[in-house]
Amino acid sequence: MITHALSPVHTRLASFSSLRAATTTTLQMSAAPPRHIVVIGAGIQGTSVAYQLHKRSASFPPHSSITILESQAVASAASGKGGGFMARSWGNGVTTGLHELGFDMYEELCAELNVQSYRKLPVLSVAPGRPPSNKGNQQSVKERNPSLSDVIPDWLDGSVGRISPLGLGEDTAQVTPKEFVEKMMDRMMNANCSDGGLSFKLVMGTCTGIDYEEGDGSKSITGVRYTANDKEHTLEASDVIVSAGPWSCKAEHWFENSVQLPMEGVKSTSIVWKPPLDHEGKLKSVDATALFCGEDERFGTHLEVYPRPDGTVYICGIGGSDYISTSDLQSSAFLSSCPPKPDRVTAATSAFHAMSNTYAQKGELQTVQACMRPCPPDALPYMGTVPGYSGAYINAGHNCWGIAWAPACGRAMAELVLDGECACLDLNPFDPARFTTSSKRGGRGRKKGSLSVGEQW
Ligand SMILES: Cc1cc2nc3c(=O)[nH]c(=O)nc-3n(C[C@H](O)[C@H](O)[C@H](O)COP(=O)(O)OP(=O)(O)OC[C@H]3O[C@@H](n4cnc5c(N)ncnc54)[C@H](O)[C@@H]3O)c2cc1C
Repeated sequence: MITHALSPVHTRLASFSSLRAATTTTLQMSAAPPRHIVVIGAGIQGTSVAYQLHKRSASFPPHSSITILESQAVASAASGKGGGFMARSWGNGVTTGLHELGFDMYEELCAELNVQSYRKLPVLSVAPGRPPSNKGNQQSVKERNPSLSDVIPDWLDGSVGRISPLGLGEDTAQVTPKEFVEKMMDRMMNANCSDGGLSFKLVMGTCTGIDYEEGDGSKSITGVRYTANDKEHTLEASDVIVSAGPWSCKAEHWFENSVQLPMEGVKSTSIVWKPPLDHEGKLKSVDATALFCGEDERFGTHLEVYPRPDGTVYICGIGGSDYISTSDLQSSAFLSSCPPKPDRVTAATSAFHAMSNTYAQKGELQTVQACMRPCPPDALPYMGTVPGYSGAYINAGHNCWGIAWAPACGRAMAELVLDGECACLDLNPFDPARFTTSSKRGGRGRKKGSLSVGEQW
């Protein structure tokens, strides 16, 4: 066997040269101008990008800053009202890496941030309606499905059809997204930034535009304009990352149509059931199995049911969603208020009562709400640079997996911003400029998507 052990002299030389490299890098870093990174949007995506940047504080020159600019409240939109389900192996083609990396990172991040609502849990596919045979009418759901009785929850004691497993808890998990976002935010807020270290702040205001100066072949970001309390303000910025969920399509105007970001907002109602109490008024635990239900023609629903560790049961997949156009989103549709639809609350309640005698008899609704998932035409996210600008990035449009993918997106964008390229994922399929006609793209030189491939001589 050939070994490559270094002699003590070589080891000293090697450590001297790595020390010299490290010293050079440190000197270069301290001579570099500070970076002022502004992330637009304090949903799970924007906050994850900021958090992953923040974790790499050693990669920033002294006196640098990260700012999140949020128009309404932290996790006030889909990131506070979505389900929080994730599945490692449910990716398809180009989204496989997002599912896998996101899933693996969650376990580590939730331990690091002491997130209480994260857990792995089994998932069943459930056909709504009556049991498949007459005999089934006399048997409980568990009796009819003995091989699954360990994972069939006690509260699934009503009338349902066929049941089959979609995951037994190895590669399926959940988190309550609001808690995850708030814990990341708290960690950044409370970080010590003495001696010119990286500082963090959350600014409440609505982004209205981007300032830039003409550079050598591209426009360099200099600031982010916003309104707060009817006054105009500007944040100094060297870099801007637009992560404003469905409203990110407004960035078409902010970047003077250098990029086209077609987007649909799919607005859906969801409901949350109160935790059950025992006869002494103490919280009873709720069996932790998620359900994906087939289409229920009676109510127009296809419920997704997520019992949470706090004893609540979250339900979406209620049907009757509204599809909000790009131009309406650009006019801030449903940004400050996103009301649920009462008829969908009734439909979801009836569909769930049919499946669960427990909730039909004793269940009480805690919350009815609605939110929008951001959906580009090909259902893939926009993640990458804005053509014609330096220091401008988009991270938006994560459709129905924006919670599951958030840690992976955060890491990918942090690499792109700090290293100039993303090593953890292939971002090419997510190029924000993939719907942009070439005549609209700014900048000099030849481009493939928003990736510069050099001058065309
Ligand atoms: C009913 C439902 C259930 C879902 N369930 C799941 C699930 O189980 N698993 C999963 O992975 N995904 C799920 N999703 C999808 C997921 O919720 C979204 O993909 C994700 O929350 C999007 O996060 P975001 O941070 O990009 O956007 P958002 O959460 O929409 O956040 C955008 C933020 O930007 C702010 N903002 C907007 N405009 C401006 C501006 N001009 N200036 C400053 N701030 C601005 C907004 O106020 C908001 O806080 C679900 C979605 C819905 C609708």
